[in-house]
Amino acid sequence: MQGFGTTIFAEMTGLAVRTGSINLGQGFPDTDGPAALLETAIEAIRGGANQYPPGPGVPELREAIAAQRLDRYGLAYDPGSEVLVTVGATEGIAASLLALAGPGDEVIVFEPYYDSYAAMITLAGAVRRTVTLRPAGGRFTFDPDELRAAVGPRTRLILVNSPHNPTGTVFSRAELEVIAGVCREYDLVAITDEVYEYLTFDDAEHIPLATLEGMRDRTVTLSSAGKSFSATGWKTGWVTAPAPYVAAVQTVKQFLTYTASAPYQLAVAYGLRHELAWVEGLRKSLEAKRDRLITGLEAAGFETIKPQGTYFVQADIRPLGFTDGYELARALPERAGVVAVPSQVFYDHAQAGAHFVRFAFCKKDEVIDEAVERLTRLQVPR
Ligand SMILES: *Cc1c(COP(=O)(O)O)cnc(C)c1O
Repeated sequence: MQGFGTTIFAEMTGLAVRTGSINLGQGFPDTDGPAALLETAIEAIRGGANQYPPGPGVPELREAIAAQRLDRYGLAYDPGSEVLVTVGATEGIAASLLALAGPGDEVIVFEPYYDSYAAMITLAGAVRRTVTLRPAGGRFTFDPDELRAAVGPRTRLILVNSPHNPTGTVFSRAELEVIAGVCREYDLVAITDEVYEYLTFDDAEHIPLATLEGMRDRTVTLSSAGKSFSATGWKTGWVTAPAPYVAAVQTVKQFLTYTASAPYQLAVAYGLRHELAWVEGLRKSLEAKRDRLITGLEAAGFETIKPQGTYFVQADIRPLGFTDGYELARALPERAGVVAVPSQVFYDHAQAGAHFVRFAFCKKDEVIDEAVERLTRLQVPR
């Protein structure tokens, strides 16, 4: 793990605390999820759900997950053998990569990527091949030829995150068709990270890769309660996949954590069944927060690329006269009292993301407003 050091989030959050800055770096909400969800967890603790839950997850949650995949996407999974509860999507990513990639195998991943992908591919002894998402037509997308060129004889997996952190891209059906075509042609397994499945804006629609022709049988889908229910500290996620893949992932998972979070599992089961209207309210409020932050960032001199989903906006720093997002992100707390994350840390080809920083908008309106006001100070002649 040499070379991985501490994550950028630890570094930037430390900087935020030290300088008293507003932290728009790390993506966690500053308001709670639905009250009845929280109450269900409290009741579960009072009711005695305090010992190891079953390894695959409590049956109530596995059944609720299977029902959610069926109701929302028409995807049928057997809660007994095709659903596995994990410690957040993060453990799902770890266990899936350790289960399905071995030394020398290649894993295709779109950059910028969620940082744990690179770490876990390395821990699996595998090699990552990155395909770069670049701005085109107001959103980030990839070149299909670049994707095809990334496939080699050792390629086993492709990791797909949509809605995508940090670019905010929601892959269109056409983009997913390209990915599915590559999976079918080269016999690849897809791992999809769908933790923002509910958080899409305007007319963007989240389409699970597993719904495309021939893909259910070769897709390991990951999601989580953290983003949907504003409960990122609950670290309750899940895997849905054909039984042999779930068995492989569970074989790894049982030695990572075995099991966790009995009361949260029960609460999330309740949430998936009864709080989706609340999630829709969250989606709407985030859409408004996105617009609020974008308007403010543009007024402060950044150029932004409007995200179609997630918590994040990518801001181009060049109009402000900067070229290196890392430098700006390190200076921003002192200069403006705001923390952002330099996007280049999510790339292998750092140059492609050097001029972007990532801001999170999953914050109270007054926090966004204050951050924007502080950022306008950057325009003061340097
Ligand atoms: C937040 C996030 C995760 C982690 O999910 P947890 O359930 O908190 O482990 C995984 N992938 C992406 C893209 C994320 O943004």
